[in-house]
Parts: sequence; structure tokens; C-alpha cells
Amino acid sequence: MRCTVVGAGVSGLSCAVKLLEAGHEVEVVSDRFSPDTVSDVAAAIWYPFLTAPADKADVWGRETYAELERLAMEVPEAGVRMRDGREYLREVVELPPWRDDIAAFRILESQEIPDGYVFGWEFRAPVIEMPLYMPWLKSKAERMGCSFRLESVRDLSEVPGDVVVNCVGLGARELCDDAEVVPARGQIIFIDQDPGIGHFDQQPDTLTYTIPRSDVTVLGGTAQIGDWDLEMRPEDDELILDKVEALWPDLDRNKIIGGTVGLRPSRSEVRLEVEIAAGRTVVHNYGHGGAGVTLSWGCAEEVVSLVSQSA
Ligand SMILES: Cc1cc2nc3c(=O)[nH]c(=O)nc-3n(C[C@H](O)[C@H](O)[C@H](O)COP(=O)(O)OP(=O)(O)OC[C@H]3O[C@@H](n4cnc5c(N)ncnc54)[C@H](O)[C@@H]3O)c2cc1C
Repeated sequence: MRCTVVGAGVSGLSCAVKLLEAGHEVEVVSDRFSPDTVSDVAAAIWYPFLTAPADKADVWGRETYAELERLAMEVPEAGVRMRDGREYLREVVELPPWRDDIAAFRILESQEIPDGYVFGWEFRAPVIEMPLYMPWLKSKAERMGCSFRLESVRDLSEVPGDVVVNCVGLGARELCDDAEVVPARGQIIFIDQDPGIGHFDQQPDTLTYTIPRSDVTVLGGTAQIGDWDLEMRPEDDELILDKVEALWPDLDRNKIIGGTVGLRPSRSEVRLEVEIAAGRTVVHNYGHGGAGVTLSWGCAEEVVSLVSQSA
């Protein structure tokens, strides 16, 4: 089938690759390409965060973990590396359902937990270096025969193809008139210092992370709902650094080398479903919040299955 994927972030490009693998003809139409998408700004570690529905996200997340782990082992140029991280919690909670499906997971000893926290776990997860991963993903699709067109889509019914796959992220607010999609503003800082192990507090109110990449460590974060400001704010830098220092006291502020801002496409839950519009199948795949990379391959698999069922 001739499939048109609208959107060239991690969701759109992953769908393009999976559709090509399934033997479809694919064109990606987008008003922005890497390095100018939200996906390029993602920190990015595999971790189901700020996303729903939980049961589906668990399945999509597990499938994505397996594929990212494979890329880390077999395709170094994709920019995926397995790293250990520690999640700290202010109360004892149920263990995450994916704990038995990842490479390593253990509960922290009390002496490994910083002041102010009472519980936590260490986990091994893929760190996805988006400045490498996004160009790799696009070139993979290109090598498989994908074509690309720079265009802003105003009406999905005017897009060519037998099937349309809608991966516009925050763009769905206008394109689908979906007021449920809102920005969750994320500011991050880059530092030329390696914490050795990643430190995390991924509760929305206290969100803190250190994600060691091979070039820099990414420090975060913020998740300001409904905030469209793309400028770096000094007060947010201060907030992030104070939070990170509580988890990583050795942080050296002299080693900060920059930062950036991105707007996560937040929604009450991911919209992954079929709509028949003007007699044609449209598969929506947007609203992944803070976990678009974490869910990317699992969602793409489901998109392909929905496309196949529509034939
Ligand atoms: C600071 C920060 C840190 C993050 N860290 C992580 C992390 O550690 N792990 C993780 O899993 N996720 C993380 N995320 C979340 C992740 O970045 C997003 O969930 C993900 O990028 C969403 O991808 P997407 O492809 O759906 O959307 P996008 O990347 O926004 O792509 C949407 C595409 O659609 C195109 N588009 C939009 N409207 C139109 C239109 N009308 N016509 C044509 N094209 C259109 C855009 O140009 C773009 O190409 C983070 C995000 C931020 C901001």
C-alpha cells in the first residue's frame, strides 16, 4: 500500500521504517525535519514517564526496549548505549511492571539512597543520543526507499496515499482540532562531566535527571504544562541545578556548556487508533508526552498492524 506518514519526529520515522519493513511504499511529509523536531531535543533515556494509558505503554515500552537494546549491541552508529541509572522515590511504591523484562534491575540498599528519599531502584536502560539517532533513523528510512517532502499539512484529507499515518505530535492541536494535546515544557542543561551512573527522580512535581551521553551529560528537568515558551529561563536553570545537586553533589557548575528547551506533546493518553476519514484509513499516533522515544518502536509495530488490517 502507499502510505503517507505525516510528521518526521521519532514517531513518524519509526513508523516509516516499520511500514517499509512490512513492504509498504512510504512518503514522509513534514513541516520540520531533524534537527528541528521536539524529538531532537529529547534527553533521552528509555523510561515510561508522563504517558498513558499505563497498560498499553507497558507493552509498547517493552517492545521498544528490546529493539533499542538490539541497536545498542549491533548498530553502534545509531547512537544507543546501555547505561545504569538509579531512580529515587520519596515513598515506597509498587515495583514497575517492566522490572523483569529489562537487562538489570535491583532495589537500592538504604545507604545508596540520598537524603529526602526513602526508596529506589537501579536499572539498566538504553540512552538514546538523539543528535546521532535522529539522522540515523532518517537515513535508514531513506536507504529503504522512503521519500521525504517538506510541507505543512492543513487537512489530512488532502494528503495523498492509500493510508495516512498521523504522527504530528503537538501539531495535532491544530491539525486534528485536538485541544487535549498540550505542551509540557522541558528545559535541559548540557554539562561536560560524567556522573558515572544516571540519577533520577521522575515524579512530575520533583522531576530531576542526569543522563550521561558519550559527548555530554543532560541535566533536567521541568515539565511545565501549557507553557509554550521556547526561550531558556535562568530561574529554571537554577531550579534544575539545585535539584540535580541534591542527587549528584559532585556536579561542577563550571563545566556547563549549554542547554535547550523542547515542548513535549502531552495528552491524557496516547492517541493510537484508526479513523476512517472521507473513506480512507487514517492511523493516529500522537500525544506521547515524556515517553515518545521510549514507546516509539512498540507504537510503530501497532501502527503497522492497524495498517495491515485496513487492507
Ligand atoms: C526536554 C525533553 C526531554 C525528553 N526526554 C525524553 C526521554 O528521556 N525519553 C523519552 O522517551 N522521551 C523524552 N522526551 C519526549 C519526546 O521528546 C517526545 O515524546 C517525542 O519526541 C515525541 O515524538 P513525536 O515524533 O511524536 O513528535 P515530534 O518530535 O514533535 O514530531 C512531530 C513532527 O510532526 C511535524 N508536524 C507537526 N504538525 C505538522 C503539520 N501540520 N504538517 C506537517 N508536519 C507537521 C513536526 O514538524 C515534526 O516533524 C523528552 C522531551 C523533552 C522536551
